[in-house]
Amino acid sequence: MRPFAYVRTETPEQALMAASAVDLQKPSPQPEKQFLAGGTNIVDLMKIDVMRPLTLIDINPLQEQLGSIEADDRGLRLGSLVRMGQVADHNVIKRDYPVIADSLMLAASQQIRNMASLGGNVLQRTRCPYFRDVSWAACNKRVPGSGCAALGGENRKHAVLGTSEACMATYPGDFAQALMVLDAQVDIGGPKGRRSVAFADLHRAPADTPHIETALAPDELILAFNIPAGPWARRSRYLKIRDRESYEFAIASAAVALDLDGETVREARIALGGVATTPWRAREAEASLKGQRLDEDTAARAAEAAFAEARTTEQNAYKVPLGKQTLVRALLDAKAMEI
Ligand code: SF4
Repeated sequence: MRPFAYVRTETPEQALMAASAVDLQKPSPQPEKQFLAGGTNIVDLMKIDVMRPLTLIDINPLQEQLGSIEADDRGLRLGSLVRMGQVADHNVIKRDYPVIADSLMLAASQQIRNMASLGGNVLQRTRCPYFRDVSWAACNKRVPGSGCAALGGENRKHAVLGTSEACMATYPGDFAQALMVLDAQVDIGGPKGRRSVAFADLHRAPADTPHIETALAPDELILAFNIPAGPWARRSRYLKIRDRESYEFAIASAAVALDLDGETVREARIALGGVATTPWRAREAEASLKGQRLDEDTAARAAEAAFAEARTTEQNAYKVPLGKQTLVRALLDAKAMEI
């Protein structure tokens, strides 16, 4: 690992001040300063030389400001330093927002869930093997303009939705899909003050700049996630399909949240994981279900709509039927939930 400076902060303002001297002309792929929370992704990437920050700003002392879980009638507020395991094991969240608890419980290992923060989780980098191995010269995400080794290489686990000629790397997370279907907002702090954005607007599709993954400026910090209460939150489900049953990333997943009138859909919310370059809201699929009786046929039509724009390679074409089946099962499972 390359040498780096370590800065420990006591308040969010100190953390933002420490980050504010960054060179905004070179936001990524190699920001000079990085925030350190659980460290389960950034330290990993520093060890393999993919990320090379000169300074790590440790925000772990900010537990009091960023480490709480608050739930009331209006919704849920999750501080960005809350650990994945705290949320996955939280009884109110398991009952009232099961899609959130499920998405976190099905991610990583218990040890990592105990360490990794929610803010870091949503910002985790792709597991594209060419991105993670610096001996490969061609990776537009790691070295802008260098090409994409995956396009003509091993791409079985790569995305079929939201891809571009520059990058087809899959967004690896699970929790993000749960935040999408619950219409979460993200509170962000920066040297110019605080702002709030829809979680759906946080991640950027690769287009021709795959090295810019989010709408965050390099000196901004995620402070909290706000999840509004809604009639769909309790009837929500996360289904994850992977090559092995534990400690593995999704090859297809679906987060769904339903508001039903009997068997008829008042509102359906759907987000897909493991198949797209960003957390992927399937709005056409949602629209196809509105006002319909939810059954195998209507769920299958929604799944068709969700993957209508899929672009596949010979190796990852299996993700389209798999993703459709995953969505159908998640919808029918959510319908069958007793709430
Ligand atoms: Fe890099 Fe993206 Fe291509 Fe993977 S898919 S090699 S991350 S540019």
